[in-house]
Amino acid sequence: MEESNLKQSYNQFASDNYAGICPEAWQAMQTANAGFVSSYGDDVWTERACEQLRQVFETDCQVFFVFNGTAANSLALASLCRSYHSVICHELAHVETDECGAPEFFSNGTKLLHVNGPGGKLDLAEVERVITRRSDIHYPCPKVLSLTQATEVGTVYTPDEIRGAGELARRHGMRLQMDGARFANAVVALDIAPAEITWRAGVDVLCLGGAKNGMAIGEAVVFFDRELAREFDYRCKQAGQLASKMRFISAPWIGMLENGAWLNNARHANNCAALLERRLADMDDIRIMYPRQANSVFVEMPEPVVTLLRAAGWHFYSFIGSGGARFMCSWQTTEQDVLQLVEAIRSATVATGGVI
Ligand SMILES: *Cc1c(COP(=O)(O)O)cnc(C)c1O
Repeated sequence: MEESNLKQSYNQFASDNYAGICPEAWQAMQTANAGFVSSYGDDVWTERACEQLRQVFETDCQVFFVFNGTAANSLALASLCRSYHSVICHELAHVETDECGAPEFFSNGTKLLHVNGPGGKLDLAEVERVITRRSDIHYPCPKVLSLTQATEVGTVYTPDEIRGAGELARRHGMRLQMDGARFANAVVALDIAPAEITWRAGVDVLCLGGAKNGMAIGEAVVFFDRELAREFDYRCKQAGQLASKMRFISAPWIGMLENGAWLNNARHANNCAALLERRLADMDDIRIMYPRQANSVFVEMPEPVVTLLRAAGWHFYSFIGSGGARFMCSWQTTEQDVLQLVEAIRSATVATGGVI
């Protein structure tokens, strides 16, 4: 195939996983490519990546690297539950809506119970109601509270809210798991130490996203309670999640963490989304659906505008959350991309008559 065909690029705000590999991750992979290195994670790159994560989180956590977020969440939840337990999550949670039943599959039947809450966040009073409404043997015993940071609709839990979730979980003998596919975006949005919104707030296990933040592949499962990590290596292996050439998953974490690229990438993505939000905020036919706190903007637009935008080659999702168009920014999004999108939306609203 001609390289020009392969290098096809188009106008996209569909997902942060449409972006390529950032220079820091790419460079680290290249550096790790020198010579023979022992396999299955028994190597210096993996050791250093784990150590770096311990420094970032300021604690002696246990770290595992898996291929993707579905595996990270599913295996983490499975390790916290028995088959007759249940996991409470938001009804829009990725574990509920976008993992094809993998959490239930890997936990041999653990049931996900969902609750609602504004802005993609768990309403803790509602969570407590779900936990306490039954205590009999016929109801799957609630064991884990799962929350997503940043959420599926681009909002961010405050440290107080996470502490509240942690306390609620403890009060009922439950554990707190965090889906952090966009954890870095939340850290920069809150301008806070990672420890403050994880283990110090009661999080037991964090699934830390790499791919959407600029890596090729790979997420880290971070256990703050080492006892919970017991035999997790077997779980990874059995699930087909133990990379034999582990260095190529782990080394990029070093590149991302050592000079702060993980936060710079996230900050850049958040800033692009903030710019988009500002430019769309004063347009008549556009309604911003959720407070923009991370790297996505959800927009309600007249259907003809959506159709025109798609016809003009713009890619974005409309199936996340409760509908609307999701515009997702990444480390690779440029200010120019954002301004072009704004112009395309403006001209589409004009062309369609400008009324909802
Ligand atoms: C993308 C994403 C994941 C991980 O998805 P994979 O495609 O399995 O890597 C997990 N949680 C959330 C909230 C996500 O957006």
